[in-house]
Amino acid sequence: MTSGWHSTSFFILKHFVYPHLLPKVPFLGTATRFQIIATTLYLTANVLFVALPKASWTEAGARAATMSIINFIPLLCGPRISLLTKVLGISLQSSLGSHRWIGRATIALAMLHMVVSLKEGGRFAWTSSSVSGVVASSALGFIFILSIRFMRSLLYESFLNSHIILAVATLVAIWYHIPEKKAATLFLQFGICLWVAMSTIHWCLFVFRNFVFGRAFATAVVKPLSNQGMTSEIDPEEVMQVDITIPRPWRVRAGQHIFLSIPKLGILRGLRGHPFVITWWDRDITGLTVTLLIKSRTGFTRELRRHVNKPLRAFVDGPFGIRHNFGDYGTVVMVATGIGIAGHIPYLKELISGYNSCEIITRRILLIWKTQRECQHQWVKQWMDQILQFDTGLILEISLHPQEYGKKGLAYGTHDKLNKSFAPLDVEWLLQKELSARRGRIIVSRKPPAPPATSRPPASVLISKYAPRPQ
Ligand SMILES: Cc1cc2nc3c(=O)[nH]c(=O)nc-3n(C[C@H](O)[C@H](O)[C@H](O)COP(=O)(O)OP(=O)(O)OC[C@H]3O[C@@H](n4cnc5c(N)ncnc54)[C@H](O)[C@@H]3O)c2cc1C
Repeated sequence: MTSGWHSTSFFILKHFVYPHLLPKVPFLGTATRFQIIATTLYLTANVLFVALPKASWTEAGARAATMSIINFIPLLCGPRISLLTKVLGISLQSSLGSHRWIGRATIALAMLHMVVSLKEGGRFAWTSSSVSGVVASSALGFIFILSIRFMRSLLYESFLNSHIILAVATLVAIWYHIPEKKAATLFLQFGICLWVAMSTIHWCLFVFRNFVFGRAFATAVVKPLSNQGMTSEIDPEEVMQVDITIPRPWRVRAGQHIFLSIPKLGILRGLRGHPFVITWWDRDITGLTVTLLIKSRTGFTRELRRHVNKPLRAFVDGPFGIRHNFGDYGTVVMVATGIGIAGHIPYLKELISGYNSCEIITRRILLIWKTQRECQHQWVKQWMDQILQFDTGLILEISLHPQEYGKKGLAYGTHDKLNKSFAPLDVEWLLQKELSARRGRIIVSRKPPAPPATSRPPASVLISKYAPRPQ
């Protein structure tokens, strides 16, 4: 690529994509300049379509209804948002962010239509059109209330189930609400076709992945990793390793995640797919085994803990996720917190292997990992040992930052580029140091801390910050 292109992309990333306008507020989050500009443009376009050319309230209400249905169309593409994300090649975080804002605009426009109809319409008539209008507005209202971050975090499983039921109820109600021969009917039909198409593709892929003639279904085996007596420290977090044998293998790449269902864990809880990053994988003549690193929380993952060391029938949906080409950068800096390490291990595996086979230009990798306790390093010890053994060029440096430490240290491999620091983690200083000595272009990849039960889900396990500079 030309240096002109690098300068332009560097300028856009530096001034628009990365800077956050406000500090992160709990339950409200934060937004970058780019997100604010894009959202403002999108909302302004909606307002202009309703307001221009100048019209009566009745006309504006009708336009709001049509715009609401037009906005509804992209929301119907997401029976599995990860699939849409994969098709469009965008990050899960962008996909979820767009879904939320389009959803809010759809609801706001529908509410405007409802208010205008109430204002203009006089007495309520018990016709199928009016009743279905009330049902659609109520369903949208419930979707809005249950989607508020606080509610979502509190009742995540119920939120997901109710979201789908309410969306279908809205769709059916709108179908009965709008008069035939209106342009809105065409938009709605288009949306329904899109939803049917995406759902069909999704379920076909699911069947293809899980049902193989003459082979057993996927099997998951759960192994506890925390508090296994390796150190005297007590690990406050329960982390498990889940090995899954896959009936129909694929080429696993770093950055992929799957949705795991285990029917034995309950009809609603076990059958609903839960997303997890593929942390490790082994492929041999017997087939493919993928490994997940799972932190126990309060639902599916807590139930999983009760079934350790037993083979469990599982269903796998995926793989999803977009891959970042870290191998195109001279220096790769990875920053992980707690269970976030799960998303970095596959990239380390691929980068070291790519370096050994001279397929990438990366010459230095710095992994900075902050944990609560020192004993948590054992979650990934088996993989770190393998990666370090494989690192013949000594390109990997690991900087471990436990906030508290126990009596016994737990070292990985015999690598001399392993630093353990009990001082508070100063990422800025570490990055400055890396930038001053960097080799080639540098990329910094970070993973937000794993969500506690009351915070929002990680939109994407690996969020990458590209910082290309003109060379
Ligand atoms: C792309 C992606 C990759 C992930 N990778 C990992 C990983 O490698 N290791 C790991 O420990 N965790 C990972 N997570 C988080 C993990 O999916 C949730 O912690 C898990 O589903 C919680 O299940 P639970 O029923 O025990 O949650 P609950 O205890 O019921 O809820 C805890 C919190 O988990 C989140 N959550 C619950 N269900 C889901 C769901 N179906 N989809 C998304 N978030 C949910 C919500 O924020 C909720 O507040 C990942 C999430 C995403 C989106």
